[in-house]
Amino acid sequence: MWLRGTLQLLHGLRTSLVNFESWMLSALGVPRYWAPAVAVQNLDIPCNPEDCAHEGDGTGFLDSIFWMAAPKKRRTIEVNRTRRRDPRKLEKIKDNIDVCSVCGHLKLKHVLCGFCYEKVRRETAIIRGQIRAQEGGPFKAPSVETVVLYEGEKPTEADEGKRIVERSRKRPSWFMNF
Ligand code: ZN
Repeated sequence: MWLRGTLQLLHGLRTSLVNFESWMLSALGVPRYWAPAVAVQNLDIPCNPEDCAHEGDGTGFLDSIFWMAAPKKRRTIEVNRTRRRDPRKLEKIKDNIDVCSVCGHLKLKHVLCGFCYEKVRRETAIIRGQIRAQEGGPFKAPSVETVVLYEGEKPTEADEGKRIVERSRKRPSWFMNF
């Protein structure tokens, strides 16, 4: 008895699906006879013997398909992991890392410390801005040397006639006074 009920249910489902499909097609404005059928691609259409010199030399339907490279067998996870964890693929251990003697950050040997360089960059940017403000614009720089004076510093006799930029802070340790 339950089998019959199941069959009836399946039949009802199928009918409703078919009805839904025809409703969709009519809603889209597609005539009923345009319903999608089995699509066959890359048919080996027989051609003129003059045009097709390959006819009869073993090339046929299967040779007219562009085959994608595909693995024939699944590689085990062991094989895959052995390949992925090959020592040649691992990150190399670096032995050219040094501690900056000024700030203590790690840095590459033979390379300027980035943290120290950033301090210098900021200070020189401020000095440049001050020069720009003093001269009222670019391309007006006098052809004399520039001296940067920090808090508590006085211009010496050697600084006579030079362009003087005054900064309202203590002289940083890395900015030596030559
Ligand atoms: Zn540093």
